Amino acid sequence: LEDQFATAQKMQAVGNLAGGIAHDFNNVLTVITASVDFLLMNQKPGDPAFQDLLLIKQSANRAASLVRQLLAYSRRQTMRPKMLSLTDVVADLDLLLKRIAGDRTKLERRHARDLWPVMADIGQFEQVITNLVGNARDAMPNGGTISIATRNVDAAEAPTYEHPEMPKIDYVLVEVADTGTGMPADVAERIFEPFFTTKEIGKGTGLGLSMVYGIIKQSNGFIYVDSTEGKGTVFRIFLPRYVPDVAVTMPDQTKPTGTPE
Ligand code: ADP
Repeated sequence: LEDQFATAQKMQAVGNLAGGIAHDFNNVLTVITASVDFLLMNQKPGDPAFQDLLLIKQSANRAASLVRQLLAYSRRQTMRPKMLSLTDVVADLDLLLKRIAGDRTKLERRHARDLWPVMADIGQFEQVITNLVGNARDAMPNGGTISIATRNVDAAEAPTYEHPEMPKIDYVLVEVADTGTGMPADVAERIFEPFFTTKEIGKGTGLGLSMVYGIIKQSNGFIYVDSTEGKGTVFRIFLPRYVPDVAVTMPDQTKPTGTPE
């Protein structure tokens, strides 16, 4: 219980911190976005700098969505969930993910056909995937393989036996696996805590996975880690299948509790 209290206090600290810096950070991003737009106006798709400028622009957009996410974390901004295909979101990130993974790391994707839709915020979900891929790369200093897979898991197949907290419903599963160092059980237990990091100062903040966890919870999903030291790690994300025609009552997490920005 004491641990839970400490975690809650840390969460609160992150929230306050986030709310405080988000505004200044947004101003910086506006300058970057405006400048890169200006440069892009004078470029054609074949020009040498075009791809890089585009990446700068995409990254600035993602940084802006991270700011939104941080604000959401501090409960000052509303989520914007919509119906989407997680395969599409992952596929659209391909270039960025390859850059994150680096030259020594192979990035594989496997997507099942006819993936069910889910309700999620695109920017948030991009944050989840880029975070997991960044961690996977960090766990493979000598290279290796990162595989991302998406598939449907119907209610009968959902691992509710292993995880009794999961309702027995249809899910879309996203798996991010690496062939890296893996982690011991005592580390795996703590990775979703804010500020928990095993990385050296300046390399890790310990915020990535706590944000990932917050996002998945806000989307009514579940995230589990399965890691073997010396072999690698698998993150499994289950998001509820979205069934448009059936009225499903979801807990309202979009109401801001603080003052709006
Ligand atoms: P950070 O990356 O800044 O350390 P995170 O919250 O993203 O913060 O991760 C917390 C810790 O979880 C990492 O420091 C690392 O010890 C562990 N971790 C996360 N992902 C992996 C992975 N794919 N393989 C091994 N360890 C991991």
